[in-house]
Amino acid sequence: MRSISPLQHISFNGMHISVKRDDMIDPFISGNKWRKLKYILEDVKKAGKTHLVTFGGAYSNHLLATAAAAARNSLTSTAFVRGEVVENEVLFLCKLFGMELIFTPRDAYKDKKALYSEQFSHDPKAYFIDEGGAGKEGARGCEEILDELPVDTSHIFCAAGTGTTAAGILNGIIGTGSKAHLHIVPVLKGGDRLRETIESLTLNRNFTLHTNYHFGGYAKTTPDLILFIQEFTSKTGILIDQIYTAKMFMAIADLHKAGVLHNTDKVVAIHTGGLIGMFSMVNR
Ligand SMILES: *Cc1c(COP(=O)(O)O)cnc(C)c1O
Repeated sequence: MRSISPLQHISFNGMHISVKRDDMIDPFISGNKWRKLKYILEDVKKAGKTHLVTFGGAYSNHLLATAAAAARNSLTSTAFVRGEVVENEVLFLCKLFGMELIFTPRDAYKDKKALYSEQFSHDPKAYFIDEGGAGKEGARGCEEILDELPVDTSHIFCAAGTGTTAAGILNGIIGTGSKAHLHIVPVLKGGDRLRETIESLTLNRNFTLHTNYHFGGYAKTTPDLILFIQEFTSKTGILIDQIYTAKMFMAIADLHKAGVLHNTDKVVAIHTGGLIGMFSMVNR
């Protein structure tokens, strides 16, 4: 299969890593969000639907990806945005791509199916897409990453929110007969809870959850993490975001320092994109 993103070999503080640059697939339909939407969009077309309805936080990479994908595929889009009314760079772009935003109190936001059926059950063109593009179709798109990696890859790293991307990669490992071990870095506190979701989407148990890299929880950062981003980006020229990919690269750097990973290992880090979401880091 033709690779849709480059594999870039980098040296960083004495480590050799190959970075799968899924962040370069597209500036807005970025990284794993592009992969997750691929088969969702196929299903939308098959079902004859034209209106994407989805869910996310105010800096959600998934909302931006869905808005851009809708515009490019002559579809319309609506998003339930968690929390109070706000303006920011991500939502600004979503609106430019024509997405309608419905700001939703946190309590009501919890029941996505209810929100959808209240407002869209009478719209025959509406199509429900879960938060983050989570689910089977999403995982199926991520499976294809494995077709684009060298067969001798021994360790693969990815950041995890819903665990859909990780599950897809695990299926890809089985499908291609790869020997690679998957290292999953949950960016939320209590990352062990992802195990159940992941195991519901794949039979591959050849993975490790590194649950100590949440830095306080989802979208939380520490001064160390910000310093790491500055160092990594200035030394490699690759931007990483504080919500997902920086936490993953920090885990890789620590495992290398601890002697768990060696330069003879073929380590691939999946850059899952999401760089527009970085703007939430700007001090205001
Ligand atoms: C959404 C996102 C993830 C999390 O993907 P899941 O499939 O939900 O685990 C990881 N990295 C980036 C950059 C993302 O935008």
